[in-house]
Amino acid sequence: MTDSYSSQLDALAQKGNLRKLPEMNPQGLYLMRGGRPMLNLSSNDYLGLADNEALKQEFLQTLDSRDCRFSSTSSRLLTGNYPIYTRLENRLAQLYEAESALVFNSGYHANSGILPAVTDSRSLILADKLVHASIVDGIGLSKARCIRYRHNNYEQLERLVAENAGEYDRIFVVTESIFSMDGDESDLPRLVALKHQYPNLYLYLDEAHAFGVRGRQGLGCAEEQGFIDDIDFLVGTFGKAAASMGAFVICSGEMKQYLVNTMRPLIFTTALPPINLAWTLFIVNKICNMQARREHLARISARVREALNPLNGNILSSSHIIPYVLGESERAMAVALKLQHEGFYLLPVRPPTVPPGTSRLRISLNAECSDADINRLIDSIKKIQSAL
Ligand code: PMP
Repeated sequence: MTDSYSSQLDALAQKGNLRKLPEMNPQGLYLMRGGRPMLNLSSNDYLGLADNEALKQEFLQTLDSRDCRFSSTSSRLLTGNYPIYTRLENRLAQLYEAESALVFNSGYHANSGILPAVTDSRSLILADKLVHASIVDGIGLSKARCIRYRHNNYEQLERLVAENAGEYDRIFVVTESIFSMDGDESDLPRLVALKHQYPNLYLYLDEAHAFGVRGRQGLGCAEEQGFIDDIDFLVGTFGKAAASMGAFVICSGEMKQYLVNTMRPLIFTTALPPINLAWTLFIVNKICNMQARREHLARISARVREALNPLNGNILSSSHIIPYVLGESERAMAVALKLQHEGFYLLPVRPPTVPPGTSRLRISLNAECSDADINRLIDSIKKIQSAL
């Protein structure tokens, strides 16, 4: 390793920002560490389905042998487009009552590929300051000009649209419904009202953290608030509440065809394994009817927010993702260790994932957590907070 690499690693370590791949030993809702079980509050398994034995057994027993393939061995445009892709995309389009759905290998593929495909130098992207790194990378690959507006600052966004609408062929407003690090939400009614004022404005909404969790059928915040038809690019992922892998966009039929012809992370990668797509379809069909799980998750989330939001300054979660903001990375690491000692597997989230000075523990709740688990968590946080 050259000096400059090692000095960069030293600098990260000195600031408490050096990352290491943790060794994992998961058992259901728990992780085993040093022989002790810790409640895993760091995964995105929001509905608690990832290790559900009954679901796994039912899936394996009902699996069509034609879908029992562990690789597609080809891109979708060559020989990788197995029939299960069509079944999954048709089912998604039906659920969203939309023209089309297009499935991708991951949310990272979707977000890094859609914007470069649909924009050009006559386009303007207006993106919330806190959008996920995969969107930031998509913006970086696009030829469009981009302006990042302050997080959830709609006055600034509206001003930027008004100033620029006449200058560009198309404006893309890009945001998330539930933000991955702060757990707060974008104002969909306001975004949709803005879209309806400008014929050349397109809304791009990443529902990665809302899919499965929000809405009557778990389709996300746009379903919950009745705006599915108003979103031009509604992106969801399967690697979180849906306990699978992959992602999708809900869009027009013409747009689907356009993306199939132009989107590099769709064209130039091996398609998902059919067995993975079959599991996703199985889970999507289950999730539609998991209202009781969603309600339990909403109830326990409200309790944890009540305890933590007052400690977090102007970061106000309204979801099942609840940060415990601690400031400097060292402090977040120390509190993470204390909570791990109390039996909660929480990890510090540090710059560059979050802005400097806002290192935090990101609590992502899981519908399998009991009320007793939540009582213990709140008691432990109160105890640690009072000793800080
Ligand atoms: N969008 C958001 C908002 C995310 O938080 C993430 C991952 N954490 C992604 C997209 C990427 O999705 P995937 O993990 O499927 O690549």
